[in-house]
Amino acid sequence: MRRSTTFRTMSALAMAGTMAAGTVMAGGDRDQNDRRGAVAKNVIFFVGDGMGVSTITATRVYSVGVAGNLVVDQFPYTALSRTYSADSITPDSAPTMTAMMTGANTNAGVIGLDDSTEFLDFNGDGDGRRLTTLLEQAKRGGMKVGVVSTARITHATPAATFAHINDRNDESSIARQALPGDSAYNDQLGDGIDLLFGGGRQFFVPNTVVDEEGGSGSRTDGRDLRAEFRGKGYSYVWNTAGFNNLTTRSLPVLGLFERGHMEYEYDRASDAGGEPSLTDMTLKAIDLLKNGQARRGQKSGYFLMVEGGRIDHAHHEGNALRALHDAQELDRAIGAAVRAVDLRDTLIIVSADHSHVFNIAGYPLRPLNEMPYPVRSFDPGYASLAGNGILDVVYDVNTATGHVEPSGDANGVPYSALVYANGPGYRGATRVDPRTDTFRGRNGIVPNGPAHEAYFQESAVPMGSETHSAEEVAIYAIGAGSDLVRGTVKNTFIYRVMARALGF
Ligand SMILES: [Zn+2]
Repeated sequence: MRRSTTFRTMSALAMAGTMAAGTVMAGGDRDQNDRRGAVAKNVIFFVGDGMGVSTITATRVYSVGVAGNLVVDQFPYTALSRTYSADSITPDSAPTMTAMMTGANTNAGVIGLDDSTEFLDFNGDGDGRRLTTLLEQAKRGGMKVGVVSTARITHATPAATFAHINDRNDESSIARQALPGDSAYNDQLGDGIDLLFGGGRQFFVPNTVVDEEGGSGSRTDGRDLRAEFRGKGYSYVWNTAGFNNLTTRSLPVLGLFERGHMEYEYDRASDAGGEPSLTDMTLKAIDLLKNGQARRGQKSGYFLMVEGGRIDHAHHEGNALRALHDAQELDRAIGAAVRAVDLRDTLIIVSADHSHVFNIAGYPLRPLNEMPYPVRSFDPGYASLAGNGILDVVYDVNTATGHVEPSGDANGVPYSALVYANGPGYRGATRVDPRTDTFRGRNGIVPNGPAHEAYFQESAVPMGSETHSAEEVAIYAIGAGSDLVRGTVKNTFIYRVMARALGF
């Protein structure tokens, strides 16, 4: 999306609310010292799971070209967020989403419990203190609350908005923490989360039962939580048709659109029951939370968390195409949200839980139609670069001849622009031209070049699953209270920005 007049107007509106700068203590912890407070009635928090800065750059090139603008590129306030967990240099989603939702850092694999808690209590000394999430605070304050993800709704990132557990993998228990009246129910959620959209149906269905799309359940306790949520007044939907029929009278609502994670955006059209896109879910969630019938004691205002949950999964698979496609869809959902809300009373904040060991390598030349000087001679592939040059081999101009040709490695062999430091794409000692590489990719398929949907980008270290990385991620903010977002901060600062905007 290019910068539009409409968008500029909205940015100007957002910035009109900017207040005088607060005191910044030299060398101090700025999140403790900043006391400004533009008030927001609503907060929408977008999380790109695994959406590091290199992913954003590559997504920009892929979708709008290297000089184009994503929606987030147009946000007026940005910062860098440090993602380390209490026990790890490179974190997983459980402690980082806990940090962003509670303002407190914790340990690997732990959700909503403080940093004296070990994963699965491996020291046998009991769990630490239970933390309070922003979603719980919003619920207590009479706001409506919603959780949307393309991952399983019980997966670490969405779970950290509402659950407290020392094992992120115990998703059967996490589902019960959201079920009003259950003995494991998180009673800080009052009468319940107003809206849940995502995947993860398997943790709501017994392992003896086949679900609506022919998948088996995973629950070993024989309980069907779909029916139990309905018994507590929830509307339950599982496909596009049911989703499209939801109205402002449907709250509270539970939408589980896939047995496991929802489809990658790239594959969504092939889904059996049909799935809404992340943009569809975001717009529906805003409509229902904003205009839905108030339950007892509810005031106006809402908190909504939206996760693009599968950017991370595609990276773990070593498949950049799907990661970029999902990141592009998240950016589209953010743009739709900006247009759907009033930025004078709504804070939109975007970040990531962590980055990935994903990189843009070499010196790829820009596409032919973007070149500032005449390019008279080139290898044929250059005229039709995949993904605006980002999903192709690296082309460069031979400055002796003016001819554009693939760049070579130390042995003269071409290489692709996107690479991973580790993961399933390890080729062994002898690498070959990616355009003719027969290394098997996703589902054992031999790809047809680096832009093919099955292609695994090359990695330096062989690993079954590519890993996260420790570098900073970006924060982008617009709307009420967004002016607090600047500088280099710990990810716990995101909680403070949201909490302050809502007056907590
Ligand atoms: Zn991950």
